[in-house]
Amino acid sequence: MIPFNKPPYTGHEDQYVLAAMRSEKISGDGPFSKRCQQWFEQQLGCNRTLLTPSCTHALEMAALLIDIQPGDEVIMPSYTFVSTANAFVLRGATIVFVDIRPDTMNIDERLIEAAITDKTKAIVPVHYAGVACEMDSIMDIATRHQLWVIEDAAQGMMSTYKGRPLGTIGHLGAYSFHETKNYTSGEECGLLLINDERFAQRAEIIREKGTNRSQFFRGMVDKYSWVDVGSSYLPSDLQAAFLWGQLERADDINRNRLNTWAVYRNGLQTLAESGRIELPTIPPECEHNAHMLYLKVRDLHERTRLLDHLKQRKILAVFHYVPLHSSQAGSRFARFHGADCYTTQESERLIRLPMWYGMPSETAHHVIQQVRSYWE
Ligand SMILES: *Cc1c(COP(=O)(O)O)cnc(C)c1O
Repeated sequence: MIPFNKPPYTGHEDQYVLAAMRSEKISGDGPFSKRCQQWFEQQLGCNRTLLTPSCTHALEMAALLIDIQPGDEVIMPSYTFVSTANAFVLRGATIVFVDIRPDTMNIDERLIEAAITDKTKAIVPVHYAGVACEMDSIMDIATRHQLWVIEDAAQGMMSTYKGRPLGTIGHLGAYSFHETKNYTSGEECGLLLINDERFAQRAEIIREKGTNRSQFFRGMVDKYSWVDVGSSYLPSDLQAAFLWGQLERADDINRNRLNTWAVYRNGLQTLAESGRIELPTIPPECEHNAHMLYLKVRDLHERTRLLDHLKQRKILAVFHYVPLHSSQAGSRFARFHGADCYTTQESERLIRLPMWYGMPSETAHHVIQQVRSYWE
C-alpha cells in the first residue's frame, strides 16, 4: 500500500532527542525550545515566537490574548479544521463563516466585509495547502474595522505572500508540527507567532499557567506569582529537540517537497488540459511550500469512484474537511453568512494525493499513472 503520508524524518533528530533526554532539563523552555524559537524569530523576522503543545493550543492562546468574550463574532472559512473554530468557541464566540474562493480554497476576501457586525472581533484566514490568502485585502478590512487578524498558518511554514512569511502578517499566527504537516516534533507541537509586540508579555504569562515565571527566570522579578488567567502551553524539550533536527534542514525538506509537487503537477497536466480534473492555482504573489497536492474531479460521485479505483491499486488518497457549517457542532456554534456557492461543492470534488518528504519520484509517477488509468 502506498500510504497517504509519512511523517518527515531526516535521521538527524536522534542525536538531538538523545541529548535532550540526557540533559537535566527536559520540561518546557529548555535549550532546544529556545534554539527553535530563536531560529523562527530570525528566519521569519518575527517579534516573538513561542512553542506550544499544538497549533490548536496556539490558536487557543490567540483567543485568550485578544480577549474573546461570550457573544463576540469571529469570521473564518467553513472549509477548515475544527480547531480553527473551537479555539474561539471555547471562549464563547459565535463563528461566522463566509464562502471560499474556488481557485485556492481560501476565504473569499471580497465577502468578508459584508459579514462584519458590531460584535465582530477578529478575522481568521486559513492558508489552505500553504497557499496564502489575499492578505493585503484582509489587513485593510481589519484596519478599517479595528479587528484582530489571526492567521491559521498550520500548513503554511516556509510559504510567503509578497515575500512575507505566512503567520507573520496578521497580529498573531499559528503553525502546526503535527506529523501530517511539513515539519514535525515527532509528537504534536505548534508555534504561536506574535507579530504585535503588545501581546508578547501577556502571552508568556498565559503560557506559564498565568504566572510571571518567565520573567522570574530572566531575573526581572525576584519571585513569581499568579498574575493572570493561564494554562500550561509548553511542549517538552524532547519535542523541541526532534523539531530542531528538521529546522536545521528546513530548506532541504522544502526543496524536496517542491520537487515532488512539480512531478505531480507536470504528470497531471494533460488530464487538466483535457478538462478531466482541475489542479491547484498558485497566485503569482504567493510562494508555496508544497504542503499538499490536490486535484478536483467533476463531483462527489466521481470522487468516490476515483478514491476506490486508487485503493484497489493500493494507493491511499484521501479527502478532508466536511465543511464545519454542515457539522453537528457547526449548527450550534456558528452561522454561514451569505450563500454557500463553493464551500460544499468544491470540498466534495477534492482529492489529496500521497505526498511526503523523501517520497521517491517513481512513486509519484506510479500514482500519476494510476490516476490517469481511471479515465482510460
Ligand atoms: C493541522 C491543522 C490544525 C491543527 O493543528 P494541530 O497542531 O494538530 O493542533 C489547525 N488548522 C489547520 C488549517 C490545520 O491544517
